[in-house]
Amino acid sequence: MYQSFIGLEVHIHLLTATKVFCGCRSAFGDEPNSNICPVCMGYPGALPALNLEALRMGCTVAKALNCGIPERTWFERKQYFYPDMTKNYQISQFASPLGQNGWLSLEGRGADGKRIGKKVRIKECHLEEDAGKMIHTGTASLLDYNRAGVSLLEIVTEPDLETGEEAEFFIQQLRRLVRYLGVCDGNMEEGSLRADANVSINLPGRGLGKKVEIKNLNSSRFVRLGLNYEIRRQAEALDAGKAVVQETRLWNENRDETVPMRQKENAQDYRYFPEPDLPVFCPDGAFLESVEAALVELPAARLKRFVADYSLGEEQADLICEEKAQADYFEAAVAAASGTAALSTKEAAARIAKWFLTDIKHILHRDGLSGIGAFALSPARLAAITVMQAEGRLSGKLAKQTLELAAAEDRDPEAIVREHNWEQITDPARSAEAARRVIAGENATAGELRSLGEENEKRRKTLFAYLVGKVLAATEGRADPKIAGEQLNALLAPEIHTERGRP
Ligand code: ADP
Ligand code: ZN
Ligand code: MG
Repeated sequence: MYQSFIGLEVHIHLLTATKVFCGCRSAFGDEPNSNICPVCMGYPGALPALNLEALRMGCTVAKALNCGIPERTWFERKQYFYPDMTKNYQISQFASPLGQNGWLSLEGRGADGKRIGKKVRIKECHLEEDAGKMIHTGTASLLDYNRAGVSLLEIVTEPDLETGEEAEFFIQQLRRLVRYLGVCDGNMEEGSLRADANVSINLPGRGLGKKVEIKNLNSSRFVRLGLNYEIRRQAEALDAGKAVVQETRLWNENRDETVPMRQKENAQDYRYFPEPDLPVFCPDGAFLESVEAALVELPAARLKRFVADYSLGEEQADLICEEKAQADYFEAAVAAASGTAALSTKEAAARIAKWFLTDIKHILHRDGLSGIGAFALSPARLAAITVMQAEGRLSGKLAKQTLELAAAEDRDPEAIVREHNWEQITDPARSAEAARRVIAGENATAGELRSLGEENEKRRKTLFAYLVGKVLAATEGRADPKIAGEQLNALLAPEIHTERGRP
């Protein structure tokens, strides 16, 4: 058995309105080369200017990852020649990145269902500019520089991860975190969150092995598959007495394997030197306060609180906390529903969580809505339906229908219930009357029920459910099934007792 070491380099596009060193629009999907200027095109003599918002967002992520923010942070030029960067260097950070020596706690379950619990050290977070995009078409390569100069934050972990599942989970948690902070949309397919995965294996106790870097991982699932493939491949090489070659490989999603891209025996020499056109940045009190102010309750902490305060299951809490807007909606609905006599906080939470994970989830999916933000039903209205149901004024079935209508028509649920006359019959006399009529009209069924003994439990249940259904139908679904059941029982009971009483 080998020990494995995985370190991730995650790049996130910061949601700044403009690029990191110029005033060009920062947007995905615009007409190619429409968002460019002399600065991001690297024309001679053009001068970069630092985007304070990018620094603030970068430092917010750094803080959320428990990094220290240095008193002085600055930029370097990373020299390389490639057509995606017309300047022939990328402005990045090297000696004093804006976030240093942090950690992220992972707690939960991996894709294989195994428990994950570990603290992953974050080596650094640094701010840099993205490169342009190359589109290869047959014999030609096209260049789109809209992405050149877009704010990019690179988050580098220490090699503390050990399996593809852990790495996948790390990416998922990081994605959730940056989305909570509102600094990145986390869209891996569009490239606003990209990961390179470094992996090596070695005999236990021998420390790090020769690392292979996997690129082109545009989903967290590929991160898992690519790493697990690579760990197997390296183990087979070592088992066969071969050495692992230090190289960069690409994930081929069609063949489910990694393929060599380039060999990288020694660290590339980028000849970093301080960017002379940008000043050293020294975060002051006001800046650090703005960073603190941007730190919302982080998803992992919120999940724990949901489990503790609302008695939700971990899995339920995890699903609800996936999106900040959803967790906010949930808490608003719970607060509104538990402010009433009918429900305690935990009872309200249990009911709202159930709505979330069944009907609401179904409607969002069925109607192709992007998320809870696009859902027309407000938390207060969801709470109102929940309370009506808890008070026994609305049956479960009609509560669902009310929810559907209130969402579809964007209307007050109370008005809908009134208009359709859906309020549950709370007057026992009315449902008793219906029960009597049903039994009178269902002579045969009632007779059979009375004649059946204990040994026919199953048949009795079926017939009884049938009669309850009849009472509900007679009241257009408004009778309380529990009360109707008791009343039916009472009407049938004396004779059932006589039957049982026979020797
Ligand atoms: P490079 O100079 O090749 O970019 P770095 O030291 O900057 O390498 O590390 C890049 C990433 O690779 C980090 O996430 C780090 O944790 C990881 N890493 C470094 N060495 C190894 C190794 N031997 N095995 C696995 N991961 C490694
Ligand atoms: Zn520009
Ligand atoms: Mg590196």
